[in-house]
Amino acid sequence: MGLCSSNSMKKGELEEYQVLTFLTKREILRIHDAFCSACPQGKDYREEKLPAEQVCTWPQLKVNPFRDRICQVFSTEGSFTFEDVLGMASIFSQMAHPSLKIEYAFRIYDFNNDGFIDEEDLQNVIRRLVNGNKLSEEEIASLANHILEEADLDNDGMLSLAEFEHAMTKSPDFLHSFRISF
Ligand code: MG
Repeated sequence: MGLCSSNSMKKGELEEYQVLTFLTKREILRIHDAFCSACPQGKDYREEKLPAEQVCTWPQLKVNPFRDRICQVFSTEGSFTFEDVLGMASIFSQMAHPSLKIEYAFRIYDFNNDGFIDEEDLQNVIRRLVNGNKLSEEEIASLANHILEEADLDNDGMLSLAEFEHAMTKSPDFLHSFRISF
């Protein structure tokens, strides 16, 4: 028992994960299988950790321009336990509360991890969204500046979580884009 195989998760554990996450039974089992197939054979998945760089290359993430940031935010000291992966998948699932998605988007976009999205963070976000080569640096800077002007309600030159939340709730497209099926 407990070893990595497709039926190694106990019914009680599965039910517990369903309660603790926004994931369906089927999603949890699929993530379990993916996690197990990445673990060394015969090891207990509950005790294994996968390096964030490895999880970054999973098909669901490898095309995402924010994959390294996502992995940084959801991993623990650079690696993923099974529960870290579940936590990540839960936030990106269709059923996750919009306010939670916004909170995690904020952390992902806060490149310098200082608790605010400043002009440079915004430029990084835009640069990745446009894939680097469709806009000039001047255009990126002016776009970031424009977003700040619109969303920075207290004019301190950066967005707090509350300001970001306020801006995001006016952007229905956002919740659609903040979805990954694991
Ligand atoms: Mg920041």
